[in-house]
Amino acid sequence: MQVVKTIAELRELRRCLTGSVGFVPTMGYLHEGHLALVKHARAENAIVVVSIFVNPTQFGPSEDLGTYPRDLDRDLKLLEKEKTDIVFVPSEEEMYLSEFSTWVEVEKMTERLEGASRPGHFRGVATVVAKLFNIVQPTKAYFGQKDAQQAIVIKRMVADLNMDLEIVVVPTVRESDGLAMSSRNTYLSPKERQAATVLFRALSLARQLWQGGERDADKIRYEIKSLIGKEPLAKVDYVSIADAATLEELDMIDRPALASLAVRVGRTRLIDNILLGRTIP
Ligand code: AMP
Repeated sequence: MQVVKTIAELRELRRCLTGSVGFVPTMGYLHEGHLALVKHARAENAIVVVSIFVNPTQFGPSEDLGTYPRDLDRDLKLLEKEKTDIVFVPSEEEMYLSEFSTWVEVEKMTERLEGASRPGHFRGVATVVAKLFNIVQPTKAYFGQKDAQQAIVIKRMVADLNMDLEIVVVPTVRESDGLAMSSRNTYLSPKERQAATVLFRALSLARQLWQGGERDADKIRYEIKSLIGKEPLAKVDYVSIADAATLEELDMIDRPALASLAVRVGRTRLIDNILLGRTIP
């Protein structure tokens, strides 16, 4: 496994590669969710490239950029076990020159959900992912359904800008009690960790209601909010039942839908989602 810190070095390596390149962009502090993406990439490609970069431009000024968990040694050991070929670990200075001034803005769908709660977040995500795609030039890139809106935004960007790669979306990996794995789960105290199960319990209730024939989106939103309301440590940021392709909020669930939510548990903001109707578009 080669660990590469500069764009020049990565480009040099890339020029010598033949066969398909599977790419997994991450912010590190890896868990089984990330490793599921790496396993998919390993199964489908000749070469696997993983990037670890805590991208400053996707964090808001009052968000957790400074405290975001990092452990490069541990990450590298985990990636070695998964037979990763190349790990790209650029510095902030390597990725953003002081005169940096070009941004990728995906419109409309980024105004909703995470985009509404975190202004500028998807501009930072789309820009860094476009840069990483240009540097790595992957055949396929792997994203988690855990961040469903991110996957949809990246797919839109790839289609709109005619980027020559395939985006693969991998199902969410969960703890045994249903909590979606996330690097941010490490912020939770034991009591908060217990309370955090309310996200998956609420989404499971939504699926159960939908499977029972409920199609009134407001009724399902209401049930989700009341269940979360019973958990004293949890505070709803948003609850959404939206068109799974466009993320437009639905009145009636008459097409494949994404039930998604953001909840603050103590000071930690967690997101999760579940599909009602089919696999992610
Ligand atoms: P991050 O390091 O949080 O930026 O995540 C890197 C990639 O891993 C993104 O495509 C995430 O959607 C994906 N990911 C994070 N957590 C999970 C999970 N629990 N299951 C599946 N994919 C995940």
